[in-house]
Amino acid sequence: MKHLVMIIEDEEALALMLKYNLEKEGYEVAIENRGNRALAEIERRQPSVILLDWMLPEMSGVEICKLIRSKPDIKAIPVIMLTAKGEEEDKVKGLGAGADDYVTKPFSVPELMARVKSQLRRAPEPQTVKELLFEDIRMDMVEKKVFRGDNYIHLGPTEFRLLRMLLETPGKVFSREFLLKNVWGDNIYVESRTVDVHIRRLRKSLNEFGPDYIRTVRATGYALDANPAAETEEA
Ligand code: CA
Repeated sequence: MKHLVMIIEDEEALALMLKYNLEKEGYEVAIENRGNRALAEIERRQPSVILLDWMLPEMSGVEICKLIRSKPDIKAIPVIMLTAKGEEEDKVKGLGAGADDYVTKPFSVPELMARVKSQLRRAPEPQTVKELLFEDIRMDMVEKKVFRGDNYIHLGPTEFRLLRMLLETPGKVFSREFLLKNVWGDNIYVESRTVDVHIRRLRKSLNEFGPDYIRTVRATGYALDANPAAETEEA
């Protein structure tokens, strides 16, 4: 599996130049240009390393870096800050926010590639998850099939992605907004009750062969839970 490098940079020409060079080195590359969306994408795609611009619309690089470090599922991802400012004070601020390295623009491409490589040496190899398990529910990630015990469960693509999200972190309560953003993506408009409709379909398919493990959390969203009954209300 290729390492994913996420570039968070609002200067398009620079982002594309970096993408070109990183792809030449054999990395997969994703570009984000706004703070809020970037964070959601980091959580969704779990890059191996992040190149983070200092000055961004909506949220500064320092703020993003602090947020990355505050979230357990992404806090270990190495962050290299890119900045036009060369002042020591900013460097200290960047490192104080939790950046692993710091590169001042204009930088040489070979130098940046070396920095990326050095961060990746510390990062764990990307793992191909072959299956996700929760109680008697099993998702085969290679065949893209879901089983409950020995029973094959046919799911639509949206229900499959929903279940995958729940299975990746059992017990975690996912808000409808988070599910919309991460299962449906940012680019289409869907109402939050659409989530309820698909959860209902998912439940119907899963519960044919066992108890209901999807917990409805009042006014919030959903979680996977082996004992959901106490807090479950009809979705
Ligand atoms: Ca910028």
